[in-house]
Amino acid sequence: MDVYGLLGNPVGHSLSPPMHEAAYDELDIDARYVTFEPDRDAIEGAIDGAKALGIAGLNVTIPFKRDVLDLVEADELASRIGAVNTIDFSGDVPTGHNTDAVGAMRALRDHDLAIDGADAVVVGAGGAGRAISFGLADAGASVAIANRTESTARDLADEVPGAAGHGLDALAALLDEADVLINATSVGMEADATPVPKDALHADLAVMDAVYRPLETRLLRDAAAIGATPVDGAWMLLYQGVEAFERWTGRTAPIDAMNDALRSRL
Ligand code: NAP
Repeated sequence: MDVYGLLGNPVGHSLSPPMHEAAYDELDIDARYVTFEPDRDAIEGAIDGAKALGIAGLNVTIPFKRDVLDLVEADELASRIGAVNTIDFSGDVPTGHNTDAVGAMRALRDHDLAIDGADAVVVGAGGAGRAISFGLADAGASVAIANRTESTARDLADEVPGAAGHGLDALAALLDEADVLINATSVGMEADATPVPKDALHADLAVMDAVYRPLETRLLRDAAAIGATPVDGAWMLLYQGVEAFERWTGRTAPIDAMNDALRSRL
């Protein structure tokens, strides 16, 4: 039996175990997906221990995504983003990858959105904002990043090819010409709030929210109400898991089974 898992703290409410185990069931793979909650100062030992125990792969979540970068052989994309969310133990040394960026792009493409050549606005410049901004730029979009702390947006924009950084006050002007808007802030999670004024949205926009609890955020309700295309955060969550599954197993992921397992719990 292969063992996969999630390294984070806390991980009690994670949807990754049912999502991955649905894939194992669907494809008759003899594997389990379990959660691990080490203390932060034990993270290096946790990765060495996982390798020694023959664990096949680990996802990594808050607060370890950055810490792990220096403890594995991170690939080029994970190094640029500055975060690892997937570790592969199949080689001599553990390798680190970031499936959030590609996962977000697959979520957009799944909704028939052409990213190459699109004008994209990313709200937020934290972990999710970084991954999504690099993903968009790599896929050929022109990226504008707007963040509450403007200097963080500018710093990120300096790293992302062709990107520009702004404060939130620039949002309405940026969205005027935009094709895609992505909320990569945590706004909308705790309270029924949105980081983007409704009157800044327009019907030709695709609006993706990284927030997936709740599934229908105020931003997505506003987007749907004015005829824009809403893409909820579970799609990004799904496809980062799909990417990890396919890397680890070399198999094509059973996307519908994984999606059903995820959505039935949200
Ligand atoms: P993070 O690194 O802590 O970054 C948080 C971001 O939100 C920062 O840009 C921060 O701006 C902004 N922010 C926080 N409170 C705000 C407020 N009241 N008004 C305006 N901006 C505010 O967090 P993260 O890891 O990027 O996660 C962000 C969200 O994405 C979370 O809801 C997380 O669950 C979600 N996420 C989803 C997926 C998925 O697969 N769907 C994957 C990763 C993350 P400042 O820089 O000004 O503080």
